[in-house]
Amino acid sequence: MTVESAPVLSVVIPMFNEEEVLPILVDRLRPVLEGTGEPYEVVAVDDGSTDSTAAQLAGIRRIWPQVRIIRLRRNSGHQAALTAGMHRAFGQYVASLDADLQDPPEKIPEMLALARTEGLDIVYGVRGDRRSDTMIKRRSAAAYYWLMRRLAGVQVHSHAGDFRLLSRATVDALRQLPEHQPVYRLLVPWIGFPSGEVSYTRAGRAAGRTKYPLTKMVRLAADSVTNFSAAPLRIATWLGLISFFFCLLMLGYVVVVFALDKTVQGWASVLATVLFLGAVQLLSLGLLGEYLGRLYASAQGRPAYFIGYDSAEEPAAMPTPPRRTA
Ligand code: UDP
Ligand code: MG
Repeated sequence: MTVESAPVLSVVIPMFNEEEVLPILVDRLRPVLEGTGEPYEVVAVDDGSTDSTAAQLAGIRRIWPQVRIIRLRRNSGHQAALTAGMHRAFGQYVASLDADLQDPPEKIPEMLALARTEGLDIVYGVRGDRRSDTMIKRRSAAAYYWLMRRLAGVQVHSHAGDFRLLSRATVDALRQLPEHQPVYRLLVPWIGFPSGEVSYTRAGRAAGRTKYPLTKMVRLAADSVTNFSAAPLRIATWLGLISFFFCLLMLGYVVVVFALDKTVQGWASVLATVLFLGAVQLLSLGLLGEYLGRLYASAQGRPAYFIGYDSAEEPAAMPTPPRRTA
């Protein structure tokens, strides 16, 4: 695609089994994008859905030619799907949006206008109100962002998720990072290009159920921490030092008790020491393992996703809808 024919705006939407929400998404998104009066593309990244998402997307594309379908060969996760979409988007500006309409597409033109008038590279969608999220979600999000600010030292906005608009320069910069499992909500603030904010109210899911169970949230948090900081390894060092001093104290105690000829009582303290040291060692080993595992993964250099189909590459071919596995 040449620069002249590139759309002004790409809207990347990762989706995994979003059959319930797709019709609503189309109804809300299309008028907004048509209303901008700019050439645009909608990059729908089908993250290996096993429901009717793929078939529906093919149908939508027939009546809405600006929709581009990228299908990943298997479910690779939200961030990998986002990566695939961002890497392949053609637009001068690339917005990312969740399929479930928790982020209002109506804010995209505002983001685009702000980026253009102020010459910004990044416009974050910032949640002014999270009342629609569950208590657990809000608490875990607050803990996540607190941890990220402390560990990663990146000025992450507590209420900015993956709803944002990026300039071509920003997308290209992100593409050049060697990151294996990019966590964009940390990487984008880290590259530190001029940025602005648009605040919005986070709605409830328009339809369907969350595709982010606790296991995926924990994985995101683990990726975020190990991607951005070696601080946990340092925790192991500190724990080791503290336990070393504790052992010195214990040694003093042991010598005193021995001198007073009361050694038989000692089993409790011996047991406590052994248990404590065992725990510290295991913890440290576990932390080393976390980083080693990630080093191993990046040494293997496996891609985070596999493209099965991109409608922009072969417009004639249609994807075969996946068979239901369950
Ligand atoms: N998603 C995805 N692959 C996954 C899980 C989620 O592409 O493995 C998409 C999902 O379809 C949605 C977005 O990522 O568009 C955010 O997921 P969800 O709304 O379920 O997360 P929550 O808002 O509950 O954190
Ligand atoms: Mg959601």
